Amino acid sequence: MNTANQSLKPVTTKINSEGNLEIGGCDLVKLAEKYGTPLYVFDETTIRTIANEYKNAFKDYPKVSMLYASKAFMTKAIVRILDEEGFGFDMVSGGEIYTAYTAGADMKKCLFNGNNKSYDELEMAVNLGVGLISVDNFLELALLNNAAKAADKKVDILLRVTPGIECHTHEYIQTGHLDSKFGFDLTQVDEAVELILEEYTNLNLVGMHAHIGSQIFETSIYYDEVDVLLKEMGRLKDKFGVELTHINLGGGLGIKYTENDAPPSIYEIAEKIITSIKDNASKYNVAEPEIHIEPGRSIIGKSGITLYTVGSSKQVPKGRKYVAVDGGMADNPRPSLYQAVYTAQVANKPDAELSETVTIAGRFCESGDILIKEVKLPSLEEGDILCFYDTGAYGYSMSSNYNRVLKPAAVLVNNAQSDIIINRESYEHLVSLDVIPDRLKK
Ligand SMILES: *Cc1c(COP(=O)(O)O)cnc(C)c1O
Repeated sequence: MNTANQSLKPVTTKINSEGNLEIGGCDLVKLAEKYGTPLYVFDETTIRTIANEYKNAFKDYPKVSMLYASKAFMTKAIVRILDEEGFGFDMVSGGEIYTAYTAGADMKKCLFNGNNKSYDELEMAVNLGVGLISVDNFLELALLNNAAKAADKKVDILLRVTPGIECHTHEYIQTGHLDSKFGFDLTQVDEAVELILEEYTNLNLVGMHAHIGSQIFETSIYYDEVDVLLKEMGRLKDKFGVELTHINLGGGLGIKYTENDAPPSIYEIAEKIITSIKDNASKYNVAEPEIHIEPGRSIIGKSGITLYTVGSSKQVPKGRKYVAVDGGMADNPRPSLYQAVYTAQVANKPDAELSETVTIAGRFCESGDILIKEVKLPSLEEGDILCFYDTGAYGYSMSSNYNRVLKPAAVLVNNAQSDIIINRESYEHLVSLDVIPDRLKK
């Protein structure tokens, strides 16, 4: 059975009676007119569809919790939708914790993760009742124990480990291999466990956490990851008599960005995970654990698109044709950061013949600000609206004000209705944190 991460577009995408692209029952050309461009558009139906695919895929293994990896894209409205779907949140900063908390997430279902959490952030997590903290290193064990002691609480923790599994994805988004900045090396786990048992009495070790990378297409990696973690559980049980109950497998499932991508379905991933638990729990003499799955990209990447307006173009004599749009690396740094590849369609003439191969350039002052190196599109004119698919993850969340360009708005579409979920920045907002010292005032 296919799942929505395997198709190119949000599940509600179609061409409407006016010949324009439509998502969530909303005409994309009208959205561009109403809200301006660049514009991020998120399809609520796709978010909920994929969230439910995750839940269905694991329905034969009830000891599962779903956490949405907030870093992919987080706003209060997204928190509301996924909280309604029963998800907790994987959070990596005080800002993400604050967003989840103020949007009414169930903090008990949430997890705080990250390789250099500050004392203030740990204190905030403890005080707001974040259910689990994934401890990444020795310094953090000490800091968190202090924060827990100060609050007179015992906090449940996971140990973040690097399981030594390499996956074939971009180097910058691999995280599970041994030479990684994240987590304890497996050879350091015993020392950490001894410290927790003997010294850090405000910490309650319940399990282990790993995350092996992002945009993963190989299902066998999840089988291996479960194997490594269960083996470690068995070893700790024999050596220290500690019975861990939780393993958090991270996120990472890939999505289809272009026709060349063939990611596995959510069902295939779930099957590998469950099979590995069935095969390996008895082998290592441990109880079948509670598992956590933390999808980010595979939920929100597919659910979001970006609309741009076409502006100037440049035909290099005997060379390529550059067509510039009104956004670029500040609203989507992925192409310049790790050569990410996207596909696009013209929202106001999706059916027109694909007559030219062009390079879509951003508007920012960097030669590397190219959004798509080569794409076949209808002949483009100033004012055409381009729809970039699969920009929902790591777009807005990595965006910047480079060149002092305003961050775009984001709208949520559903049943022919569109609602702002992030306002477009204004120039006043842009300078609101700037301060001119008295001696420099004019
Ligand atoms: C980034 C991250 C995720 C989400 O990864 P995706 O590829 O977006 O699914 C999940 N867990 C952890 C610990 C992460 O760092």
